Amino acid sequence: MSEKLRVAVLGAKGRMGTAATAALDAADDLELVAALGRHDSLDILIQRQVDVVVDLTVPDATEANVHFALRHGMHAVVGTTGWDASRLAALAELLTHTPKSGVLIAPNFALGSVLATRFAAQAARYFESVEIVELHHPRKVDAPSGTALRTAELLAAARQDAGVPAAPDATEGGLDGARGANVHGIPVHSVRLAGLVAHQEVLLGSHGEALTIRHDSFNHESFMPGVLLGVRTVTGRPGLTVGLDGYLDLEG
Ligand code: NAP
Repeated sequence: MSEKLRVAVLGAKGRMGTAATAALDAADDLELVAALGRHDSLDILIQRQVDVVVDLTVPDATEANVHFALRHGMHAVVGTTGWDASRLAALAELLTHTPKSGVLIAPNFALGSVLATRFAAQAARYFESVEIVELHHPRKVDAPSGTALRTAELLAAARQDAGVPAAPDATEGGLDGARGANVHGIPVHSVRLAGLVAHQEVLLGSHGEALTIRHDSFNHESFMPGVLLGVRTVTGRPGLTVGLDGYLDLEG
């Protein structure tokens, strides 16, 4: 029988970390060997001979955590937001020195969210206008969400490839923020509301019709099938993968 993968969770006491430790504990083929919080030394990862680090911490900590894991021959599955272009470039550079390691940066582990983004990217070229509304719990520290940024990036690329002109918008003035954040030319609106978890709508419109593609995560368990898929796949995928869709067969 093959040995179980040795997995560590960083940010283990947080909302995502709590759900991830439970999911890993319940997985027969994986062994949770470390569950670390803010004040724990990363050296524990070396001592416990961790294969895969799951980072569910905060934007300020995630980059150092992942670099540490790579420098010590581990793989990383990352759900924490804050991975902008410059951080991704530095990570890709580090990976050239650690070619056996794999890293998955997953802005959203919910399979339904990944599918919703894919469907929206497929639809984006057929509509004049597109806007994104993302809605989250009020404890979220970043806005827009990583998922919304990634969705906007993919929609903008699909529209550019198809030669779709900029969406019509006659707005000349108004209050700052009224038209949302401009992400690659797509307005993104962030709502923070008590009672919500993680939700997103992509609104597509043309003359006489509109299409709304909505996904809802109602609790943190919704992210766990994606976390487990990431852990089980990352060791066989050296290099950098951004987006869980990179581990799914969505072409069929
Ligand atoms: P959370 O409840 O605030 O948990 C974050 C945890 O990280 C806290 O327990 C915190 O400890 C800990 N932490 C802070 N700095 C750390 C460090 N240097 N080392 C280890 N642990 C550290 O947040 P959450 O809702 O679980 O979300 C965690 C991250 O995942 C956020 O970036 C969030 O946006 C992201 N997220 C991703 C997805 C996805 O599908 N990819 C879904 C939901 C959320 P203290 O309690 O001591 O501060």
